[in-house]
Amino acid sequence: MERKCGECHACCITLGIEDLNKPKDTPCPHLKTCGTRRCGIYDTRPGECADFACAWKRGFTKARYRPDRCGVLFYASESTFGSSLVAAEMWAGASSRGDGAIAVAQASSECHDSGLHLLIRTAAEGVET
Ligand code: SF4
Ligand code: SF4
Repeated sequence: MERKCGECHACCITLGIEDLNKPKDTPCPHLKTCGTRRCGIYDTRPGECADFACAWKRGFTKARYRPDRCGVLFYASESTFGSSLVAAEMWAGASSRGDGAIAVAQASSECHDSGLHLLIRTAAEGVET
């Protein structure tokens, strides 16, 4: 069963959204700063947004390692290496410290067992969250 995003809005910052011309690691201009529903155009949001579910939402790792809490957003991707799991940092160093590092270690082990490539995408210093 899929988890609920709750207050998380990590993908609305970390991912690039082609339909909106939104670059990676930049808060979406439609993000609302308060309220339980964070998307200001929820009913008309692009399909890219509506269809996205990160690995945590699909059940990967412990509930406490939600992307906005552990600082690492995991998602499936087809890359030049083949089927991959991307670990995108929400802030610089998130994948090598604390809960983020624990989640990455778990991902590394699971990718090794399942033949997936683990790609770590580091964040630039000063990424706004
Ligand atoms: S990063 Fe995952 S849990 Fe967070 S809002 Fe996006 S889909 Fe939901
Ligand atoms: S349009 Fe809405 S769901 Fe899509 S990135 Fe922006 S705030 Fe998030």
